[in-house]
Amino acid sequence: MRQIIIIGSGPAGYTAAIYAARANLEPLVIASSVEAGGELMNTTEVENYPGFPDGIMGPDLMAKFQVQAEKFGAEVIYDDVVSLELAGEVKKVTLGSGESYEAKSVIFATGSAYRKLGLPEEERLSGHGLSWCATCDGFFFREKTIAVVGGGDSALEEATFLTRFASKVYVIHRRDALRASKIMQDRAFENDKIEFIWNSEVASINGDAAVDGVTLRDTVTGEQRELPLEGLFVAIGNDPRTHLVHGQLDLAEAGTIAVDGRSSKTNVAGVFAAGDVIDPTYRQAVTAAASGTVAALDAEHYLAAVEQAESESLALTH
Ligand code: NAP
Repeated sequence: MRQIIIIGSGPAGYTAAIYAARANLEPLVIASSVEAGGELMNTTEVENYPGFPDGIMGPDLMAKFQVQAEKFGAEVIYDDVVSLELAGEVKKVTLGSGESYEAKSVIFATGSAYRKLGLPEEERLSGHGLSWCATCDGFFFREKTIAVVGGGDSALEEATFLTRFASKVYVIHRRDALRASKIMQDRAFENDKIEFIWNSEVASINGDAAVDGVTLRDTVTGEQRELPLEGLFVAIGNDPRTHLVHGQLDLAEAGTIAVDGRSSKTNVAGVFAAGDVIDPTYRQAVTAAASGTVAALDAEHYLAAVEQAESESLALTH
């Protein structure tokens, strides 16, 4: 049986792995089959991670996290968790391959998933001019007219990045003020290829085989109009990825996993949570990494207490 299994391989998961490995707990990291490395794998330049004054590409940063975790003895498996049994002293983690692993403790650091617009044609046009990842798909939109939906840092980062390829990038935002940070706003406002469409939401995404436009609804007047486009990127935030633990772990009002105060302790003994999956507010790589540290230290204390209790009960029986 393992001491500790870490589910997730973003900044929270790998930082927890670094700490747990340095505590000689030989953590097993379940890194996911297609989304290993977490959200930074879909990012370009990361400019706000301390220690990298010249910036670092998201995937390069995550490769460094992994190397550091493995250097101290973490083991990484590229597979998806399909079910979890968290109650009881022995936790069971089953993977897509059918293999199961047991551990005394689990750190749940599954991050968050892209939010969808909730339109019926979203599924059908996904990958056909509709995308959630500018760094993955931007290249396909050379000299095209496209749009990004959203008003946060992600939307403006994606829009700015997409101007490397596209000839025109609209940013469609449902209000008349952005949520994004000042530096991102300034950069987007200065970019000649970016045009903002305020107070507008996407009523429908149009196109048979591929996106050829959207119908916009004015959020103030309710008026509708057509906007011809060759591509649409959705960047309206993320939702915590909690489906694996529904019914097992308590959730907070925001849909994140509930933890005890500033700790990573969930309502189940031996199960800890870290990163975006517990954080509805800050959701930065550096706060996720810090949260991974907290989880590893909490797990370490828990395992020490379990070991202490085991040796005391062993002493009593002799
Ligand atoms: P976010 O800050 O939650 O912003 C989401 C945006 O999408 C908001 O402008 C929101 O509009 C809009 N929106 C939400 N649901 C919508 C819907 N159904 N239809 C239309 N618009 C909708 O999410 P984010 O931009 O992904 O950023 C998440 C976190 O990551 C933030 O803390 C951000 O600072 C961080 N981040 C940082 C960087 C960086 O520092 N380089 C880059 C990316 C992300 P309202 O404003 O009206 O709510």
